[in-house]
Amino acid sequence: DMFSKSISDAEFASWKKGEPVPYAALCQTFEQIEDTTKRLQILDYLVKFLISVIKLSPESLLTVIYLSINKLCPEYEGLELGIGESLLLKAIAESTGREMKKIKADYAEIGDLGVIAMNSRSNQPTMFKPKALTIPHVFKTLKDIASLTGNSSQKQKVDKIKLMLVSCRNKEAKYLMRSLEGKLRIGLAERTVVVALAQAIVLSRSNVKKMSKEKLQMELEEAASVVKSVYSELPCYDLIVPALLKGDIDGLKEACKLTPGIPLKPMLAHPTKALTDILDRFESIAFTCEYKYDGERAQIHKLEDGSMRIYSRNSENMSNKYPDVMERLGKFAKPNTTSFVLDCEAVAWDRERKCILPFQVLSTRKRKDVKEEDIKVQVCIFTFDLLYLNGESLLREPLAKRRELLLEHFNEVDGEFSFAKSMNSTQIEDIQVFLDQSVADNCEGLMVKTLNGTEATYEPSKRSRNWLKVKKDYLTGVGDSIDLVVIGAYVGRGKRTGVYGGYLLACYDPDREVYQSICKIGTGFSEQDLEDHHKDLKEHVIPEPKSYYMLGEGNKPDVWFAPVRVWEIKCADLSVSPVYKAAVGIVDPSKGISLRFPRFIRLRDDKTPENATSSEQIAEMYNDQKLNTVKNDSSMGVD
Ligand code: ATP
Repeated sequence: DMFSKSISDAEFASWKKGEPVPYAALCQTFEQIEDTTKRLQILDYLVKFLISVIKLSPESLLTVIYLSINKLCPEYEGLELGIGESLLLKAIAESTGREMKKIKADYAEIGDLGVIAMNSRSNQPTMFKPKALTIPHVFKTLKDIASLTGNSSQKQKVDKIKLMLVSCRNKEAKYLMRSLEGKLRIGLAERTVVVALAQAIVLSRSNVKKMSKEKLQMELEEAASVVKSVYSELPCYDLIVPALLKGDIDGLKEACKLTPGIPLKPMLAHPTKALTDILDRFESIAFTCEYKYDGERAQIHKLEDGSMRIYSRNSENMSNKYPDVMERLGKFAKPNTTSFVLDCEAVAWDRERKCILPFQVLSTRKRKDVKEEDIKVQVCIFTFDLLYLNGESLLREPLAKRRELLLEHFNEVDGEFSFAKSMNSTQIEDIQVFLDQSVADNCEGLMVKTLNGTEATYEPSKRSRNWLKVKKDYLTGVGDSIDLVVIGAYVGRGKRTGVYGGYLLACYDPDREVYQSICKIGTGFSEQDLEDHHKDLKEHVIPEPKSYYMLGEGNKPDVWFAPVRVWEIKCADLSVSPVYKAAVGIVDPSKGISLRFPRFIRLRDDKTPENATSSEQIAEMYNDQKLNTVKNDSSMGVD
C-alpha cells in the first residue's frame, strides 16, 4: 500500500539533513523509473524521493524538479540544453582516454550516448575517487554550459562536461549525458512530475499519519489538481516551488496567480468536420463565431511597470521579432488600463489594399532581432481575448464578460489593431455565410466559442471543446491538418536528383516520449521547398535512428534526422497500417495508423517537435472519421 508505508529517510548514507542532495540519489530514482512502465509505480518512486528532498534538503527541491523535467529555467527565458552529439562524443573520448573511432562504433551499435558514457567509464581504472556530484553543482554546471556562447565556447563546454564525467559514479554518467542531450527518456512525463510534487508536499506534512485513507486520497487528488491548474496559469517553478514549501497547497493558490510578464499556455481548440458538429456540440448553449485569422499567435502583456512584451504560442519572447508592433502597443489600450494580457493573432497586412495577406507572407518575416527599418511585411494584430486587466485575472470570467471588457478598454486602430470579427447566430445558414466571408477575407475559417457561465472560462493549455475550429477546407480532407516531425528522407531521383525525393514523418507520444512513424511524404513541395528542406535538414543527419523512434519493419529511409523540424501536413484520410507505428496500442494492439495521400502544407516553426500532433490525437482523428462514415452511410440510406 503506497501511502501507509512510512517513507524512509534517504537511503543514501552520505545524504545528511541540510546538505545538498547527492546527484546519485536522483540518478537512482531515474533508474527505478526507467525500469518500470507502470504509471503508479513511477509516481510512487518520484514521490518518495521528493519527500526525502523536502525533509532533508528543501532548498534543492526546485533544482530537483528542473532536472526531473530536464529544463534549466522557465520556457520563456529560452535557455536550453541539447548539446550536439559530436561535442558529447568528444567529451567522452577525452575524459575516458578511449579512441574516438571505438566510441563512434559503439554509438552506431547502441545508439544511446548515455549508455556509451557509462560503459566507457566503467572500463576506466580509478586512481583516486573524485568528490561525489551534488544536485546544485550539476544543475549550475548544466546552466553554465547552456549559457556559453562565442568562439571558444565549444572547447569550454567540452571541458566542463569532462570535469563532470570524471566525477560520475555508476549510472550517473548515463543520465548526465542524456540531460546534456536534452532528452532524459526515462518515461517521466512533466505532468507526472507536477502530480508527484503536489503529493510529496501533502505527504511530508506531519498531520498525514492521523488522516483516514479516504481523506488522504482526497487531499492528494485535490493537491494535484490545484498545482496543475496553478502551473497552467503561471508556468514558472521558480515561483511555484518556493510558494509550496512556504505555504502548502492553500498558500500556493493565494501566492501564485496569472502575472503579466509570465506567459501562460494558450487555450487550444477542437477540430470539427462539418458545420453540423457545432450544433451537435452547442445544442442548448449560447455560442459565438469568430474569424479564424491565419497568422501567428501572440500573447501581449503589459506589466505593472508599464513595459510590454509579446510572447509566441510556445511562450517564447517575440518582442524583438515585432519592434514595429511593440512601438505602437501603447496606443491600443485606453489610458486607464495599467496592466493586461491579451490573446491575439498577428497577421500579415497589406496597407495599400487594406486587407489580410496569407500566412505565407507573414512567414517571410525574420524571426529574430528585426530592425524596424528593414521590415517589409506589415502586421496587424487581431485580438480575440482579454485574460488579465488592471491587476485582476479574468480567466474564470465567461467569454461574454471578457469580450465586454476588451471592447471597453481598448481602441481599434486602422490596419494596426482590431477586434476579431464576430457573429452571434445559431442558424446554420448564417454560420455558412460567415464562414464563406471569412475565407473571402483571407482567413482560415471560423472559431466557435461558448459565451456564458462556467463553460466559457479560459482554459490555459487545454484543447477544449468549448472552442471549436472550423477550417475552410473541412470537406476535402480529415478536417484538420496534422503537425508531424521529419525523421528521415529518401534520396531523390530523376527531377529530384540532388535534393531529397521524399521524407519519413512521425507523430509524438508524450507519455512514452517516443516518435512514432506515420507516413512517407513526397507531394505538396514546391521546387524551392525541396531545396530549402534539403539544405536545412542535411545539417541534422544522424548515423542511426534515435533509440526513441518507434519504427515499423518497412521504415527504411536512406538518411535519418534528429527530431528538429515540424511540418504541417494534410491528408485524404487515416487508415490502420501494419507498416507504421503511430498510435500503436490505442486503436489496434500491434498495428499503427498511417495517413493516406499526405501532402506538405508548410513548415511550423512555432511548434517544437514535442508539440507535434500526439498519438492520442491521431487515434481520435481516426475514430472520428469512422464515426462520420457511419453517419454519412446511414443518411445516404435514408435518402
Ligand atoms: P493546434 O493544432 O495545436 O490546435 P494550431 O496552432 O495548429 O495548433 P489551429 O488549428 O490553427 O491551431 O487553431 C488554433 C489557432 O488559431 C490559435 O492558436 C490561434 O493562433 C489561431 N486563431 C486565429 N483566430 C483565432 C480566434 N478568433 N480565436 C482563437 N484562436 C484564433
